[in-house]
Amino acid sequence: MIKKDSTELRQSIIDACLWMNSSGLNQGTSGNISIRTENGILITPSSLPYEETTPEDIMLLPGDGLSGEAIGKHRPSSEWKFHADIYKERSDIHSVVHTHSIYATALSMLRRDIPSVHYMIGVFGGDSIRCADYAHYGSAELSENALIALKDRTGCLLGTHGMIACGADLKQALWRAGELEALCQQYHLACQLGEPRVLTAQQMVEVRDRMKTGYGVWPDRKK
Ligand code: 13P
Ligand code: ZN
Repeated sequence: MIKKDSTELRQSIIDACLWMNSSGLNQGTSGNISIRTENGILITPSSLPYEETTPEDIMLLPGDGLSGEAIGKHRPSSEWKFHADIYKERSDIHSVVHTHSIYATALSMLRRDIPSVHYMIGVFGGDSIRCADYAHYGSAELSENALIALKDRTGCLLGTHGMIACGADLKQALWRAGELEALCQQYHLACQLGEPRVLTAQQMVEVRDRMKTGYGVWPDRKK
């Protein structure tokens, strides 16, 4: 169910940002988070330190968020366009997390997709994590590239930039961001030791079938 804009929902975005930084999933004012609501898209303001952010600082992009209007005291995240475009394209997604986590960002510098080196790749809806082509931060081109990389997926790398993780709600998007960063760290480590084996397409179909029974969907959050 899509929630209404509220102080509590805005605070949940701030809490998530603080957690991202304290857990090492992000640093400084890199990254941004949004939630789709009945009233529009709630999104972090651009480059405001999370420790200083209050619920009133969270920006609202009314409607589908694409009109260019932003309600609040600041500029919305410079990445507001890809957040809004993802919601427009994907009815299954209600929260988007973008981070510059260390391992995902390091792999994004290689501009390569991550193959199915672990079954947890299946959490993202396919048998790879795609890496979107590079485009400048905040650009319409970056949004276009991200949408291509996210086709039938709930996470991707952004070339020479970072990652995007999406979810049916903020909890699921954050969970996917953490899992994607862990996968990138594991892949990086395995590559130091040799050439990682890749699961077959059939094995990944079977993994995703198993996951359909509710992996990563919590009882209180079933949609
Ligand atoms: P904002 O502070 O504008 O959200 O920018 C951070 C970022 O990650 C840009 O790609
Ligand atoms: Zn970024």
